[in-house]
Amino acid sequence: MHIVFAASECSPWAKSGGMADVVSALPRALAKLGHRVSVFLPYYRQVAKVVPKPKVVLQSVTIPFPSYNRFVRILDGGIAGEVQTYFVDCAEFFDREEFYGTPSGDYPDNAERFGLLCRAVIEASKILGVPDVFHVHDWQASMIPIMLGSIYYFDPVLRHVPAVQTIHNAGFQGWFPPQAIEKLLLPWDLFTVDKLEHFDKVDFLKGGVVYADAITTVSRKYAEELQTAEFGNGLDGVFRKRSGDLLGITNGIDSEEWNPATDSHIAAHYTVQNLAGKKECRRDLLHAYGFENVSDDTAVIGVVSRFATQKGSDFIVEIMDRLAKEDMVLVILGSGEEYYERLLVEMAERHPAKVRVQVKFDNVMAHKIEAGADIFLMPSRYEPGGLNQLYSLKYGTIPVVRATGGLDDTIEEQPNGEGNGFKFWGYSADAFLEAVQRALGTFRNKEQWTAMVRRGMAQNFSWDKPAAEYVRVYERVITNRS
Ligand code: ADP
Repeated sequence: MHIVFAASECSPWAKSGGMADVVSALPRALAKLGHRVSVFLPYYRQVAKVVPKPKVVLQSVTIPFPSYNRFVRILDGGIAGEVQTYFVDCAEFFDREEFYGTPSGDYPDNAERFGLLCRAVIEASKILGVPDVFHVHDWQASMIPIMLGSIYYFDPVLRHVPAVQTIHNAGFQGWFPPQAIEKLLLPWDLFTVDKLEHFDKVDFLKGGVVYADAITTVSRKYAEELQTAEFGNGLDGVFRKRSGDLLGITNGIDSEEWNPATDSHIAAHYTVQNLAGKKECRRDLLHAYGFENVSDDTAVIGVVSRFATQKGSDFIVEIMDRLAKEDMVLVILGSGEEYYERLLVEMAERHPAKVRVQVKFDNVMAHKIEAGADIFLMPSRYEPGGLNQLYSLKYGTIPVVRATGGLDDTIEEQPNGEGNGFKFWGYSADAFLEAVQRALGTFRNKEQWTAMVRRGMAQNFSWDKPAAEYVRVYERVITNRS
């Protein structure tokens, strides 16, 4: 089967979060199962820095806009792991400082930028090979199912091609003023509440959910949560309407990128049988954060996160003064909302002997934290899938999580430290602190702790099973269309 992926992020070229890891690893797992996969990604400035002169595959693809056309090139991103990557090159849209916007706000032409990406993927596919199925990721690629179901509806080569929409985070839906309809040359009859309209805005993701043949999200629990008012972000009714076609598939992890036995970013390698290297990684991490003379009995707690209310950054701030009284040191890596960046830096200044923060996006440091910490915190308010708790398990770093979405599906706390982590249910910092204290209590029991570390490391997080589940979804939507 030929599957075309369309997304706004893909590791290692363009990453701001977990979607990039999925869009990179899932195609390779599908190729391993014998399928042909092509991935389309914008040719951002960040990509051009790494791949400055790619071969031109298509010199000019016409993308119409009101009163004028834009012309994009399709560039060859190469074949890796048997997956063909293509870059969509439109300098005026993608040669920018950031992917989606600057700290002062989103780019005002994001509807046109990602609308163009989608139309370019459709048009390029007609020349390079019409797939059996399109697999689109988040709102940035939702215009593919929308366009296939509307302005491309009578195209004889696309007519029977289904699209699968994956939701990595329904908190971001691509909301734009109604004029976006005209800017993308879509018919106004799409702007109704049963299609793209959401409280007088054009909602890309809503359109994707309405028009896709199947919808998937990145954990079973989040697929249920999406259908509730609390987590549906205004689309719970739309998700409920499509519940028969909505499925949760838990992410795997890319064992070439995240594996303590081979990771080139960490100070020493280790395995479930031989944990000695983890001690060296711990020393290296403490050194990177400028801590000296930390006793082996003191727990090293790590955080790698987008700073946002979604991620429970406020919970971390709220427990900080009480946590600082415990026998631990806390290392934080992250970036995001300025408000939380400032608060966390202030907290670190208040507890210089216990808490350190690095405000940046740094993949190498993220690996060092996963390897060097003893405990990893993820107090998310909601978490569609979450990858860091899986990386933590794989690296023998025990996660403390809020029981939501993918965190609830993958982390289990049991009495006597029998599970693979610690979790709390309430929506409160106190419940979070208690869970961290339970983790610290177990940390002091070395035998129990090591058993828990080993249990997590031995779990199987390969992409094989999720990839096979995606294949079943593709087969279903293809059959339904034929
Ligand atoms: P989300 O996509 O919602 O931000 P996930 O847990 O699904 O959350 O994925 C986050 C991904 O981004 C992980 O691979 C994590 O290591 C990475 N990441 C987040 N913040 C940083 C950072 N400041 N530096 C490096 N990597 C980061």
